[in-house]
Amino acid sequence: MKQTERLASDGGQPVRDIYLPGAQQDVDEDDIRAVVTVLRSKWLTTGPSIEGFEEAVAQFVGARYAVAVSNGTAALHAALYSLGVGPGDEVIVPPITFVATANAVLFMGGTPIFADVAPDTLLLDPAQVEAKLTPKTKAVIAVDYAGQPCDYDALRHICERHGIALVADACHALGAQYKRRRVGTLADLTAFSFHPVKHITTGEGGMIVTNREDLATCMRRFRNHGITTDHRQRAAQRTWQYEMEMLGYNYRLTDLQCALGIRQLQKLPQWLTRRQVIAELYDEAFARISGIIPLRRLANRLHAYHLYVVQLDDNALQTGRATIFSALQAEGIGVNVHYMPVHLHPYYQQRFGYRRGEFPVAEEAYTRLLSLPLFPTMSNHDVADVVRAVHKVVTAYAGLQ
Ligand SMILES: *Cc1c(COP(=O)(O)O)cnc(C)c1O
Repeated sequence: MKQTERLASDGGQPVRDIYLPGAQQDVDEDDIRAVVTVLRSKWLTTGPSIEGFEEAVAQFVGARYAVAVSNGTAALHAALYSLGVGPGDEVIVPPITFVATANAVLFMGGTPIFADVAPDTLLLDPAQVEAKLTPKTKAVIAVDYAGQPCDYDALRHICERHGIALVADACHALGAQYKRRRVGTLADLTAFSFHPVKHITTGEGGMIVTNREDLATCMRRFRNHGITTDHRQRAAQRTWQYEMEMLGYNYRLTDLQCALGIRQLQKLPQWLTRRQVIAELYDEAFARISGIIPLRRLANRLHAYHLYVVQLDDNALQTGRATIFSALQAEGIGVNVHYMPVHLHPYYQQRFGYRRGEFPVAEEAYTRLLSLPLFPTMSNHDVADVVRAVHKVVTAYAGLQ
């Protein structure tokens, strides 16, 4: 056994005294002033900040229409509603994602059909999608896991050939690009989230972008109870009359949130660059540390780096992920795991009876996944602390060579 530093989990001195979180939003005084300005204005919701934010996001991603909703989950729900997903329909989703991706299919009465991911990127594998197609398949939801765009050319090709819709769950990928084309223009509908851990935040918030006017109009009604006009449109028309045409929800985002979103979006380019710089520092460091394998970065992509995910190398380590996770936490490093495969959650197990081994790549990857801290206001010193802690822990558990 090599001589190693005593781990904090073993009573040693931790690498950090002050815990480094895994993710952290950045809200500055200008952001706060923008929200306060709305608070003093006439419209707290359904006001002009909504269109302001929608137009800014549409322009940023290069899509024609953007519809703001209360969160990323509502964005996925609205997207599937606009496509008319219903009972008897199947929607193909990857098992490695946040539960909301598959849950949105269930909200519509449809059936999520899992298709396994590629082992080195954990992105939806087009060959697996192809294998899961049936006459009932209505759509495919691609998840740009960690911020890296899926193989959209292959997925588009499959969807076009079978006349089904392609939805992008790009909650990790605001600002990413595939072959110089921006995420937001690659699928029929693209969903984003503005939860505080994501690239920009509105507290809670979401957006769907599309080039199809019919889908955008449908989603605007869907977020407002299925009513054809909103409060401000009626005020402008001096009418009290409105009609509900379909069963919608109250999925509106407020003007307070949109004002914050407009400000946050202005800082996104510099934040994306910083995320990429941090990822490169990690890449360089982990190239020299055995036991830690970063996810593969594919060519022709601009990675938005929502997450920096590594896989532990079982052959180089004498212990499992749980021990490494706890040891890094004890060192003051906010590591996390994204995600337990959706089909292994008790609800999915009980409702659909999936057996272990059905999605072997996702299940095997899950036992080895670790997300390291990554957020734009992390300093290079913070990055060095993470690298030092990883090196310390991995060295302590290194296998006998
Ligand atoms: C965050 C996230 C969502 C849901 O977004 P919320 O705003 O939290 O509802 C959906 N899918 C993925 C992949 C996400 O990361």
